[in-house]
Amino acid sequence: MKLVMKFGGTSVASLDRIRHAASLVESAARTHSVIVVVSAMDGVTEQLIDLSSAAGRGDEERCRELLASLRTHHLAAAAPLGVADAVSQMLDRLSTLVGGILAVGECTPRTADAVVAFGERLSTLMLGAALKAETFDGAAAGIVTNDRFGEADPLMELSMFQIRQRLMPLVEGRRVGVVSGFIAATQHGVTTTLGRGGSDYTATLLGAGIGADEIWIWSDVDGLMTADPRLVPEARLLDRLTFAEAIEMGKFGAKSMHPRALEPAAAYAITVRMKNTFRPDGPGTRIGPSDPAHDSPRPVRSVPILRSMAMITVGGGGMIGRPGTAAAIFTALAEARINVHMICQSVSEAAISVVVSRAQVERARTALTRAVIAEAGPGTAGGSTPGLHLDVLDNIAIVAAVGEGMHGTPGVAARVFGAVARENINVTAIAQGSSERSIAFAVSHEAGPRAVAALHREFNLSEGSS
Ligand code: ASP
Ligand code: MG
Repeated sequence: MKLVMKFGGTSVASLDRIRHAASLVESAARTHSVIVVVSAMDGVTEQLIDLSSAAGRGDEERCRELLASLRTHHLAAAAPLGVADAVSQMLDRLSTLVGGILAVGECTPRTADAVVAFGERLSTLMLGAALKAETFDGAAAGIVTNDRFGEADPLMELSMFQIRQRLMPLVEGRRVGVVSGFIAATQHGVTTTLGRGGSDYTATLLGAGIGADEIWIWSDVDGLMTADPRLVPEARLLDRLTFAEAIEMGKFGAKSMHPRALEPAAAYAITVRMKNTFRPDGPGTRIGPSDPAHDSPRPVRSVPILRSMAMITVGGGGMIGRPGTAAAIFTALAEARINVHMICQSVSEAAISVVVSRAQVERARTALTRAVIAEAGPGTAGGSTPGLHLDVLDNIAIVAAVGEGMHGTPGVAARVFGAVARENINVTAIAQGSSERSIAFAVSHEAGPRAVAALHREFNLSEGSS
């Protein structure tokens, strides 16, 4: 079998963890061709982001502190692995780069990517040493992106072609290669990153490029669950999910992979397995193409929740029957780089609501006030006078019921909202995608966990095996 194995930050967080990851690769490599993808050591990306912003604002002391702690942390693992010199030289290059940023007094997104990329370069060097294997950064492995620094998009055809060219010799020769996750480069060779959590994306891109049979995502969780076990103690591990289900769960922030990372695997129908490095013999969760012979018949498989959300409603008579308001709203939010989690419009056309994270609500409010409200003038609720106004619900949760089996099954929504109503929970907004794989709704922050528990019971998710 051709395998891609990706290790997350906690799976390479110390010398012991790196050695353990290496032993998992070695045992798989006895019977399979393995390409390894690795994240930065746990917490390192956060420190590097902190470092780039400290350098950009001229905070030399904070930079010195962070550089020293990165050095101590990495050398503790690098020395026993015999790569202390190489790691130390790499950290010297990082210090030089930070010195340059301090001298210029600003850190552009392009430069920030150059700084953040060091996390994966360092971990790759160390895991490569533990495995005595050839190492590649993402660009050397063939991933080319546009120049949207911080969250670059791969140029698919070129990347697929190059990945095949660069990695197939290893795969065919049954040699293990270690590739740094998360980082890539533009066509001109400028370093880019694929966005937070982007190493999973690297893994699926490489899997698609080499035509892998499976992609194994190693982390510190057993797999995906029917609900957050902190909210529902009887929550169960899900043994298999379809891509559509996993993508929906990822959107709702469940401990899943980023939906973007699942796309290459779904497009090339490559099975993804989520596995726990701390319990490697556990069954994990298998994510694959929909397969009527094996898919669970249950209409709802999982009940994820997104907390700390806020809902902004743009309403008023000024938008009724007048095209362009929705475009203005979403353009303003996109330009402010606000991530929209849910969208609802009333049929009367007198209100559009968007759900964003609480961390972004003030920026969203400012952007909408400037671009939409100021244009149309203030109005009143319900649209009795023309003009537009904003309402913000500051602390809400989105709860979702996710399942492939609800597609084309009548009565699921009635069960969902019946269960919530019996708990006396007020539903503020509802969204169902036309894909019919999830039903999501907004409730107050306090009611969120109760709604999750109610749905978990309604659909008997603690019982059975699928
Ligand atoms: N190191 C990056 C991050 O923490 C990428 C990854 O771990 O997937 O976001
Ligand atoms: Mg990380």
